[in-house]
Amino acid sequence: MKKVDKLGRIVIPIELRQKYGLNEGTKIEFIGIGEGIMVRSDEPFCKICHEKIPEDNEFPLCEKCMAEVIKSYQEKR
Ligand SMILES: [Zn+2]
Repeated sequence: MKKVDKLGRIVIPIELRQKYGLNEGTKIEFIGIGEGIMVRSDEPFCKICHEKIPEDNEFPLCEKCMAEVIKSYQEKR
């Protein structure tokens, strides 16, 4: 368990920061959901590999993952 400090700060574990691309300066927002708080980056990232993607991407996937999805979809047909 982590402790909240006097100013309400907490440290996000390094594994989660790396996984979700939360680097120094990344803007985040807090959303209260039920009994917890979700921390969300406003920067779009790939839903599969969590790499940053361009803001105007039509789908929430990076090019690499998108290609994989298309490939596996085509293989199933
Ligand atoms: Zn990806």
